[in-house]
Amino acid sequence: MKKKLLLHICCGPCSIHVWRKLQADFDLAGFYCNPNIQPLAEYEFRRLELVKIAEKFTWPMVYAPYDLHGWFAAVRGLEREPERGARCPVCFRFRLEKLFQHAREHGFDAVASTLSISPSKSTAQINEQGRALAEKYGVGFLAENFKKQDGFLISRRESDALGVRRQDYCGCAFSKAERLLRRRQPAR
Ligand code: SF4
Repeated sequence: MKKKLLLHICCGPCSIHVWRKLQADFDLAGFYCNPNIQPLAEYEFRRLELVKIAEKFTWPMVYAPYDLHGWFAAVRGLEREPERGARCPVCFRFRLEKLFQHAREHGFDAVASTLSISPSKSTAQINEQGRALAEKYGVGFLAENFKKQDGFLISRRESDALGVRRQDYCGCAFSKAERLLRRRQPAR
């Protein structure tokens, strides 16, 4: 019998490739927990894109509450950090902690996250948080790097083929502002 794995999904487009990779070895369920995505309209947009994908492939899914205040409290004092700076590990831990809690409460053997497929995220930061939480909760953590072997490129092709929109900033209001400011800077 396959082990039960709860997969944290940060967005629909990245989930397709990761799910395909893992489904041969695990009995999967998806877990959408991303209160880092702001504003709420963008969170809802990304969630509904995932709902479409999950229904198409009949994935069992859990949609966690949008704990925006909890997330802002967690990253307080780190607002000025750049993407990949000190705010991101706190953000990963916040979401992964809820993943581990749900996995332990519902009898999953292990967890993983689609987060590492993004070329703009640090796999080391993600896996460091995952390993620490695995110790704390006694649930296995698959410390993967899904961007390896053209993982991101493949996921792009798969989401384009399905007509799923891909977002152009990481998620939080700070990353959105950072992206907009970078675009405004004159080319050198
Ligand atoms: S940039 Fe992305 S990973 Fe970092 S804190 Fe913001 S939403 Fe989280």
